[in-house]
Amino acid sequence: MSYVDEILASVKTKNAGEPEFIQAVTEVLESIRPVVDAHEEEYRAAALLERMVEPDRIITFRVPWQDDEGKWHMQRGYRVQFNNAIGPYKGGLRFHPSVYPGILKFLGFEQVFKNSLTTLPIGGAKGGSDFDPHGKSDAEVMRFCQSFMTELYKYIGENIDVPAGDIGVGGREVGYLYGQYKRITNSYESILTGKGMSFGGSLIRPEATGYGLIYCTNEILKMNGQSLEGKTCVVSGAGNVATYAIEKLQQLGAKPVTCCDSTGWIYDPDGIDVDTLIEVKQVMRARLTEYKKRRPNAEYHEGKGVWTVKCDYAFPCATQNELDVEDAKALIANGCKGVFEGANMPTTLEATKYIQEQGLLFTPGKASNAGGVAVSALEMSQNAERLSWTREEVDKMLLRIMTDIAHTISDAAEKYGQKGNYVVGANIAGFEKVADAMLSQGVY
Ligand code: NDP
Repeated sequence: MSYVDEILASVKTKNAGEPEFIQAVTEVLESIRPVVDAHEEEYRAAALLERMVEPDRIITFRVPWQDDEGKWHMQRGYRVQFNNAIGPYKGGLRFHPSVYPGILKFLGFEQVFKNSLTTLPIGGAKGGSDFDPHGKSDAEVMRFCQSFMTELYKYIGENIDVPAGDIGVGGREVGYLYGQYKRITNSYESILTGKGMSFGGSLIRPEATGYGLIYCTNEILKMNGQSLEGKTCVVSGAGNVATYAIEKLQQLGAKPVTCCDSTGWIYDPDGIDVDTLIEVKQVMRARLTEYKKRRPNAEYHEGKGVWTVKCDYAFPCATQNELDVEDAKALIANGCKGVFEGANMPTTLEATKYIQEQGLLFTPGKASNAGGVAVSALEMSQNAERLSWTREEVDKMLLRIMTDIAHTISDAAEKYGQKGNYVVGANIAGFEKVADAMLSQGVY
């Protein structure tokens, strides 16, 4: 049995109840086969793959919090510190009822390779809780965040682990978490990114993942003789990533016509109105039915459906496994020529394979959504310098990083005889640097 197959079999046995983690590991290991085969003896001797698929540690803690009626609730909190071979652990916190170790292990594992692709010195981690911020008051969210940080603060630090936001964790939550860290430690350290502009946040951080996705896409399209100009795009999600992807698509001359949240979706034939979307989702924290009320020309539908809309390009920006093979078939039947992931692993393995076989362009999230963590690392640099860079400076760096990522993944794919296969390119390029650092640092 090959080294890759041995490790895959062992991961499947040891993590049997964690399908998302198995899916993420399978995708990466399958695509790095040529590199592993070329270095099998060296990698086996250092137990490299065994160590790479096992988190450095998983921290689990209880998070009691009180609602506005005085009733106590108990949530689970986690931090999965996956790999710090190339820098301090870095990765978001997710507050969503579906959070369990398997989801955080998949996200932490992906984060290791994504962070490597940014070329910045950051390792990979992920954390969060099964807490659901939907329908909670600001005071409830604050009490939850304070309780969560009261435990988490023991395990993070500016040279140890620097969390950020993810699903359910935006500027409000980062603010409450940061306040509590400071209160406990009496120290103004850069232990979180995505902070508010008045207390050490970086300009462009809120927009970075969505903008970065479109910068990367634009470069990939250029390499393939295509462009965004005048193209119709479908986007899923209505949160941080989706909103700023939509905004940047419009700035580059495309027309994004859909978005969705966890209950329904919008088709707006005039193009999604970003101000209305921000008002509804970020200010009112309401459902997309409110978008429809403000934009009478738009259609609102319950359930899932953005992938059935005719488009040139598709951008899944909501959550994992939101685009399956049936969705891929619908997209292709409607003329879609490319799928560019904004979320983490939004496309199932089967759908990814199908999309690639049908000759569409496809970029994996670990490359195309790396702009968020890249600007988070730039936020850490600004905090270390005690300086704030201008919007233009940060945006320029983001553009350069995402353009470089597009070329890096393209070159790596070509080097291993798989021109245009950006999944292979991203996994190989991300893997090589982490592998090199781990081999240099000895077995532990
Ligand atoms: P947000 O919480 O800001 O937004 C997520 C959006 O997706 C919300 O509109 C949410 O609906 C919707 N959504 C969640 N689950 C589902 C579902 N099952 N079906 C349909 N819609 C759903 O999160 P982000 O925008 O930050 O994150 C989106 C994705 O991007 C995640 O995969 C995340 O890991 C990834 N990512 C985020 C980065 C960042 O910087 N924020 C960086 C890199 C990746 P509702 O409004 O109802 O909650």
